[in-house]
Amino acid sequence: MKTAVIGAGIAGLAAAVRLAVQGHEVEVYEAADGPGGKLHEFSLEGGYRFDFGPSLFTMPQYVDELFELAGEDPRDHFNYARLDEVCRYWWPDGTRFTAPADTDDLVREAAQTFNVSEVAMRKFMDKAAEKYELTGRTFLEKSLHKIGTWLDPQVAYAMLKIPGLDLFRSMHDVHAAAFDDPRLVQLFDRFATYNGSNPYKAPGLLSMIPHFEHHFGAYLPTGGMFDITTAVYELGQRLGVRYHFGQRVEQIYCGGAQVEGLRVSGVELPFDTVVCNMDVWLAYDRLLPKAKQPGITLKQQKSTSAVIFYWGIDRKFDELGLHNIFFSRDYASEFEKLEGGDLHDDVTIYVNVSSKLVPQDAPPGHENWFVMVNAPAHAGQDWDSLVSDLRERVLKTLGERLLPALRRHNGEAGNLEDHIRAERIVRPPDIETLTGSHQGALYGSSSNNRMAAFLRHPNFSRNIDGLYFLGGSVHPGGGVPLCLLSAKIVADLVKAP
Ligand SMILES: Cc1cc2nc3c(=O)[nH]c(=O)nc-3n(C[C@H](O)[C@H](O)[C@H](O)COP(=O)(O)OP(=O)(O)OC[C@H]3O[C@@H](n4cnc5c(N)ncnc54)[C@H](O)[C@@H]3O)c2cc1C
Repeated sequence: MKTAVIGAGIAGLAAAVRLAVQGHEVEVYEAADGPGGKLHEFSLEGGYRFDFGPSLFTMPQYVDELFELAGEDPRDHFNYARLDEVCRYWWPDGTRFTAPADTDDLVREAAQTFNVSEVAMRKFMDKAAEKYELTGRTFLEKSLHKIGTWLDPQVAYAMLKIPGLDLFRSMHDVHAAAFDDPRLVQLFDRFATYNGSNPYKAPGLLSMIPHFEHHFGAYLPTGGMFDITTAVYELGQRLGVRYHFGQRVEQIYCGGAQVEGLRVSGVELPFDTVVCNMDVWLAYDRLLPKAKQPGITLKQQKSTSAVIFYWGIDRKFDELGLHNIFFSRDYASEFEKLEGGDLHDDVTIYVNVSSKLVPQDAPPGHENWFVMVNAPAHAGQDWDSLVSDLRERVLKTLGERLLPALRRHNGEAGNLEDHIRAERIVRPPDIETLTGSHQGALYGSSSNNRMAAFLRHPNFSRNIDGLYFLGGSVHPGGGVPLCLLSAKIVADLVKAP
């Protein structure tokens, strides 16, 4: 059976592997010059390497599974380390907290830092685990849009438990009810941003997200995040998948209600099955203009986008870890601004420094900083002016928090800007152009309402046989693990030839 995959994002790459294992003849068409989509890498002059997008890696078993399916040992091709600490948090009042990966350590150390008892912390983490156990496996690993899923007894059990799953309260309300300490509430609210959502709107069910990080663990591939792309791409090559880079698909063509093939660079190519890893909004708009549009699904609010400063820094900052968060003073008004399509004056800043664990990512004595601020999806804002103001504020905030320690140790440390040796800035419209993501959204649509999971596009077309969808803009959602799961769902839906 001849199968085409549109897009070599991580979901497209994983689907190509699964379908090749199932015996399909797979051709992947990718508009960019190489694989990975949002999970690609680049370098800046002076010897600084950066992963373009994802920096936090959870659920590595979904990558390993691809090698196992192909009869290979993942450790021969793909390796990663489990992190002992998952994130260093900084608050404007001077509080600092390094979150240990292990749940027991997290419970104990949070009780020492915040106004919270070990009992309350444990109860919260147990509840997160329960939410995942009840819903995660069923709702994330299967199509929500097939009757078979709803006939599963596990689903029926989860439905009975819905009143206790916090679907009708926001994440923030759940956290505010669990903790008196506003810093701890803010720490857990932040997990809404893992799928580009707003904690004041996203359903409390999503307070299961910390369970992924603290129970299943957070990881980093040995050579950085791009190892994931390379490993899955090369596995596909070994399985006979044929990749066509720099080839933008222009149309999916159909005969009646059956997919028949693709038009690529003006040439019509016949296929029995088409698997679309392109952002679903753009796929309907560009490749399927005559198809019936799933109106409500495509109108869902977008997830957040981001402004990213990639900085080559000419010295080491020992206070920083791999993942660091510098919180704003007023999280609620920060999200209100985002909802209004704007950036707050006081923003939360994420700093990832992969060279802490991957020394070859920066020259000796230097660091590679990936500095990201959540931004609204692109809707024609004046990004040049917004980003120029933002850059000043980010430099000021990070300088105020990081330079005093340098000065104590070394005397004069100058300004933070003096330490930037190389720079690239990426704004929401750049994310849209570079990765084919509608409005530059990082995770497709947001999860800002309790129906969001059901309103994501299914992993198949309801009107065109042989057409399937996967990746961050469809079910089960954005983020590398969920994209890998979308590939699994699609491979299960596509019949083996
Ligand atoms: C800045 C940033 C930070 C992130 N942080 C994290 C994180 O820490 N952890 C995490 O798990 N996730 C993170 N994510 C989200 C994660 O990167 C994405 O959810 C995931 O990589 C999306 O994969 P995908 O399979 O949907 O494909 P994408 O990566 O979206 O790729 C789609 C591909 O399709 C191609 N394409 C589009 N149109 C066509 C066409 N017509 N013809 C041919 N090819 C086409 C595009 O060129 C692109 O390569 C982050 C994303 C970004 C941008």
